[in-house]
Amino acid sequence: MGRYARRMLRSVFLAAAASSKLERLVESAPVSKGIVRRFVAGGGIDEALSATRVLADDGLGISLDYLGEDTLTAEQATATKDQYVTLLSRLSAAGLTPAAEVSVKLSALGQKVDDRMAYDYAREICDAASAAGTTVTLDMEDHTTTDSTLEILAELRKNHPSTGAVLQAYLRRTEGDCRELATAGSRVRLCKGAYAEPESVAYQSTLDVDKSYVRCLNILMSGEGHPMVATHDPRLIAIAEDRARWFDRDPSEYEFQMLYGVRPEEQARLAGNGHSVRVYVPYGDQWYGYLMRRLAERPANLAFFGRALTSRK
Ligand SMILES: Cc1cc2nc3c(=O)[nH]c(=O)nc-3n(C[C@H](O)[C@H](O)[C@H](O)COP(=O)(O)OP(=O)(O)OC[C@H]3O[C@@H](n4cnc5c(N)ncnc54)[C@H](O)[C@@H]3O)c2cc1C
Repeated sequence: MGRYARRMLRSVFLAAAASSKLERLVESAPVSKGIVRRFVAGGGIDEALSATRVLADDGLGISLDYLGEDTLTAEQATATKDQYVTLLSRLSAAGLTPAAEVSVKLSALGQKVDDRMAYDYAREICDAASAAGTTVTLDMEDHTTTDSTLEILAELRKNHPSTGAVLQAYLRRTEGDCRELATAGSRVRLCKGAYAEPESVAYQSTLDVDKSYVRCLNILMSGEGHPMVATHDPRLIAIAEDRARWFDRDPSEYEFQMLYGVRPEEQARLAGNGHSVRVYVPYGDQWYGYLMRRLAERPANLAFFGRALTSRK
């Protein structure tokens, strides 16, 4: 597939990710079994815990994400917060902390309606994570939320300094944010970025995004913090391995991160070579937006999706 066709397809899926009409249609199609199961650990905490156990037994770290985003009601935000608090106590009781931490989307805690409520709930989740002996990372969403998310992160870090940040290499501002956040103890996940963003704020070409990723990686790897290299891209992984050697970083001072169901053999290879590797494990019923972003990233998944959509199983 040509570059233009790929870019078109990416825009179509990212637009689909934001469509609630399509969401209802796809969620009710018998699509779920194959494709969803490939990228999502299951619908509830028990299945999430089973997937976590398998990964932990293989020596991998885990970051669990309870699926859901763009919550518009306080009730839904409260339910999401409660889910994380329960999840953390179950992980601790099962002996799965500190191997497993959690990733939280502030929009699932109501950031778009009341950012104070999102902060209060995120703080409760951080308290629960501390009690369970583990950490929280705040996922990064579309660029309209970046400032608010970084402000909330700074507040949370006052009591919970190990709260992780996520920065997206496709945003033009991100090199500056990397400099700000490359401080002692600061956990920063660097990813390419998964949302449809305008040219005014984001690089549009793959090459420009990759070049930005490398510049950001250099800042984080040469800084004082704990870089979390979140990519499946073989070239960027090789560059990160090189920078870790160059800056004489011990494997405990950085980590690789990949998504559940994506390049598991590469996850095992990196761990086998002595790197710390963490797998991002989503679970829950609200898988639609997450799945559409995965399809936007990799047209090769499309054939799989098509088969699943037409299958009656
Ligand atoms: C742990 C983690 C957390 C994330 N958190 C966020 C977040 O908070 N906010 C956000 O906006 N985005 C997040 N993302 C998503 C991220 O921004 C990218 O959209 C996503 O990772 C795809 O980019 P990529 O770096 O993997 O490379 P891509 O550009 O998608 O792929 C580059 C190359 O990687 C290889 N590759 C990719 N997928 C596969 C595959 N399935 N099988 C084989 N090879 C493959 C191929 O060689 C491909 O050409 C996260 C990603 C990860 C891994």
